[in-house]
Amino acid sequence: MKKNDEFEIDITDIGNEGEGIGKYEGMTFFIKGGVPGDRILAGATKLKKTYGYARLVKVIKASPFRVTPKCPISGKCGGCQIQSLSYEKQLELKERKITENLIRIGGFSPEFIKEHMDPIVGMEEPFHYRNKAQYPIGTDKENQPIAGFYAGRTHSIIPNTRCYLGAEENEEILNIILSYMKEYKIEAYDEVTGKGLIRHVLIRKGFSTGELMVCLVINKKITELPHQESLIRKLADIPGMKSISVNINTENTNVIMGNEVHTIWGEPTISDIIHVRDMQKDGYPFTGDALTFKISPLSFYQVNPVQTEKLYSLALEYAGLTGKETVWDLYCGIGTISLFMAGSAKQVYGVEIVPQAIDDAKENAERNGITNARFFVGKAEEVLPAFYEGTIGDKKASDDMLHPDVIVVDPPRKGCDEACLSTMLKMQPERIVYVSCDSATLARDLKILCDGGYEIQKIRGVDQFAMTVHVETVVLLSKK
Ligand code: SAH
Repeated sequence: MKKNDEFEIDITDIGNEGEGIGKYEGMTFFIKGGVPGDRILAGATKLKKTYGYARLVKVIKASPFRVTPKCPISGKCGGCQIQSLSYEKQLELKERKITENLIRIGGFSPEFIKEHMDPIVGMEEPFHYRNKAQYPIGTDKENQPIAGFYAGRTHSIIPNTRCYLGAEENEEILNIILSYMKEYKIEAYDEVTGKGLIRHVLIRKGFSTGELMVCLVINKKITELPHQESLIRKLADIPGMKSISVNINTENTNVIMGNEVHTIWGEPTISDIIHVRDMQKDGYPFTGDALTFKISPLSFYQVNPVQTEKLYSLALEYAGLTGKETVWDLYCGIGTISLFMAGSAKQVYGVEIVPQAIDDAKENAERNGITNARFFVGKAEEVLPAFYEGTIGDKKASDDMLHPDVIVVDPPRKGCDEACLSTMLKMQPERIVYVSCDSATLARDLKILCDGGYEIQKIRGVDQFAMTVHVETVVLLSKK
């Protein structure tokens, strides 16, 4: 076979990036857009010894799991990878991804995983679930400003202001910003030259409160935008608008946000409410408890509020609190999980690297009348060992603090640092609740924890990211 040769192939599997996988004459092919169960005509694009890549030329016989994507550009946009796959199959795929990583990287047996894994928690309405959008701003061939999404693995912007995952208001907000840019000839940032002003637009919505936040990321140290009155007037008219700000980022990197935020209208933050659910009952009904959270532009906040309630409620259930426990919540963000736990624990300690998030966490505790939660700024892998070794904190950190009953971790994709894991093992909590957004690093870390004297009790996936290949996992471990 040579490049560009066309051939018929059955798609039998799906890869980590959502690509279809099939075998042809002993070679494994990876084909973007292929859905398991499809028979397709493929065109070879890259050939290696035992595998190759191909493009989908034509679907010959569509898979029973193939659905028409809602979004007309889902094939090009890097945001969704599996809109062509039925939602039921998406959930199956995610469960399998967790299982395979735990077997391959974690070294657990398939039987063990099967025995300890509960069915993944899916969504009823898997669209328009995201409360946060970060649109890159660029320029088209006619030199007009555009907002959209990066095409998969590149930085070329596909213009699109209507995303089927995001809030309905995003489109109006972006159109107002684009016409303001056109009217006042405000330039979009250009990654290549480093020139231009507007880099990204961050939009956040509190789904329970309806509150909206718009933050324009700009490439200049200014605290006001040129002609901002006209922009503000239009944005402030949108029902729910609470906060408009600029964020300064003059670095030529892929990092979206800089560290400096200036509110140009309204409040510096928005609020959202998260309800506790009963994960033991069908349909996961509300228990009647709820917490209010204040969110800054720079703070992390889970992007799928409907599923977040289920995720946190599951973490709470796994923690098995009775009111007497001491809990560490590592990678705590604005203190959401910490405060969920505080109501059922004696004392909670949260650790988070972003100072603004810790400010939010402290205010969130106060706002919800919670007095048994303390928060520390820093890296989990530094703060936890420092407490344990007595180099920071209370002169004589209490025994409870050094030997907590429960440790919760919810790290970013790269997982926990070894220094963090080894201190957790020294602290010997009865239970560890691991919330993970990357099952590969989860598997790696679980192996370390299990080698260190812990055993897995429960594993459950939660679909925080419908239409994408990403999946959240919650794991309960207990001391052997
Ligand atoms: N539990 C929170 C946040 C989870 S996201 C929630 O559910 O909202 C992961 C968080 O870890 C982010 O807030 C990020 O800023 C923080 N973080 C990243 N690296 C860290 C580190 N080394 N130590 C502590 N926190 C870190």
